[in-house]
Amino acid sequence: MEEYRGIILKKINFKESSEIIYLYTETGLVGVLVHGSKTMKSPHLNLTKVLNHVKVIISGKNLKVLRDGEVINNYSSIHSDLEKYTYLLHLAELIYYFSTHEHDHEKLYNFLIKILEQIKDKEEYIPYINMCELKLLYLLGVNPNLNSCMICQNTQNLVFSVKEGGVFCPDHLPDYYYSNKVLAAVQKLYYFDLNKEQRLEIDNSLLRDIRNVIDEYYDYHLNYHSKTRKMLKGLIGY
Ligand SMILES: [Zn+2]
Repeated sequence: MEEYRGIILKKINFKESSEIIYLYTETGLVGVLVHGSKTMKSPHLNLTKVLNHVKVIISGKNLKVLRDGEVINNYSSIHSDLEKYTYLLHLAELIYYFSTHEHDHEKLYNFLIKILEQIKDKEEYIPYINMCELKLLYLLGVNPNLNSCMICQNTQNLVFSVKEGGVFCPDHLPDYYYSNKVLAAVQKLYYFDLNKEQRLEIDNSLLRDIRNVIDEYYDYHLNYHSKTRKMLKGLIGY
């Protein structure tokens, strides 16, 4: 028997009444078969929901099977707020996709727990989603250079180029870039330390540009976009 704690990022049907849940844990992704989880009588009916933070006891080596489990935090209950829930599904899909890449899973798992706690009760939760997406770039080894001009190391009045993955001064402007204001918001999110409990304030008028920066960055540097992003577009309009 083994014990894992993790966030359910995804689940798939297995035979008629069972499911396989994919947990993100501090050692990475773990797939667990839950027998009969779709039957009304199952004691695990409420356990196997995407976004739940759970503790599970499993047996089996190649095929891990759930023996017992409990919900630590039911972030799945956020589904009553469709927009927030969709943002979180987008995040879950992103983390699932890159969970098979070699990176610091312990760091991301612990960060994810903190981010979910922040998002759960906040109305202004979108910057926390963005923060997670930006910090993941660092773990994936495609971190942007946000501090000094890529050409002359100037640190004043910088703008940001997604394609170049870095910042430029007024003397070395690239063809296409995001303003200093957008860059300042991206910097704030990228370097934000959740452990220090500062207040996070991001101007709402910048959220659309920040969204575009992140989407374009993942597309250009990692060739990735989530399927949930389309649903999100239907809800938020961009
Ligand atoms: Zn320069």
